[in-house]
Amino acid sequence: MKISDILKNKRTLSFEFFPPRDEQGVERLFETIDHLKRYEPDFIDITYGAGGSTQRLTVELCVRAYRDSGVTVMGHLTCSAQTKEMVHSVLKRFESEGIENVILLRGDPPQGEDTFVPAEDGFSHATDLVQHTKENFDFGIAAACYPEAHPESLDADSDLYYTKMKVEQGAEFLITQLFYDNEDYYAFVDRARQSGIDVPIIPGLMPILNASQIRRITSLCGATIPAGLDRQLERHANDDRAVRQIGIDHTLRQAQELMASDVPGIHFYVLNRRYSITKILDNLQGSSVGVTSS
Ligand SMILES: Cc1cc2nc3c(=O)[nH]c(=O)nc-3n(C[C@H](O)[C@H](O)[C@H](O)COP(=O)(O)OP(=O)(O)OC[C@H]3O[C@@H](n4cnc5c(N)ncnc54)[C@H](O)[C@@H]3O)c2cc1C
Repeated sequence: MKISDILKNKRTLSFEFFPPRDEQGVERLFETIDHLKRYEPDFIDITYGAGGSTQRLTVELCVRAYRDSGVTVMGHLTCSAQTKEMVHSVLKRFESEGIENVILLRGDPPQGEDTFVPAEDGFSHATDLVQHTKENFDFGIAAACYPEAHPESLDADSDLYYTKMKVEQGAEFLITQLFYDNEDYYAFVDRARQSGIDVPIIPGLMPILNASQIRRITSLCGATIPAGLDRQLERHANDDRAVRQIGIDHTLRQAQELMASDVPGIHFYVLNRRYSITKILDNLQGSSVGVTSS
């Protein structure tokens, strides 16, 4: 089923994973997916790697997740390190496996570099990939958006302009980059609506698991850690358990407040670990994640 159709009837719950480095990690990933099925996610997804083998691994993991878990799987696809023909063949594979939804992205610059350089005869922006997919396939299409603006964008207005272009070319809903201050999400949604973007904008939340990891992730993706939260992390920087609990409490508060403001769904960046997300969802039960919204 297309996720855009699910969104017409209910608030969605979704989990994002990444492709593990080794076989043990793969088995743990599937255990985690199996465990989280009890929360009845509307879809799950696995990020697309930066090159060759991890890109192929993502496709195989998506196919396995789709076949084994019975949950709707949204395929990720980026423009990184591939010709248009290679990208087209991944879309063909998703299609032939019965995967009906994709999120289409540009991809990040390679590690240590500031700018994204498209492959020879590759796509340069998510807009190109959305256009190509819409013209050649019948997928439900999602794209990314950035409450605090994409770090490479000239400014927030130009970023919004290109976000709108992704929607005009066929993106049926948007998922946000992670953020830790809900005001950033509300302000972004207001600006998006004023600019004429009328598709659902699903907030993406990432429970903090580790202080140095989240500092690295936020500095790469241009998200801000609010000062109060940052001070708490600083105080407990060497105590991973305390940091994990701070992450659970913060994400739970964010999710509760977002749901009270009637968001179209919540997308959790799970980082392949089940402890924090389980604690958060157990506390959210009864708060109507995953049930019909008003
Ligand atoms: C929900 C979500 C899932 C993600 N999944 C993955 C994943 O699986 N694998 C992965 O590698 N990365 C993933 N990312 C990260 C993403 O690839 C990076 O944020 C990347 O730097 C930008 O991707 P994009 O699709 O937003 O790019 P784009 O929409 O192409 O935007 C990139 C930059 O170019 C500008 N721009 C956009 N279109 C144009 C245009 N036509 N002309 C000129 N400028 C333009 C934008 O303002 C922005 O600054 C994900 C991000 C999110 C939020």
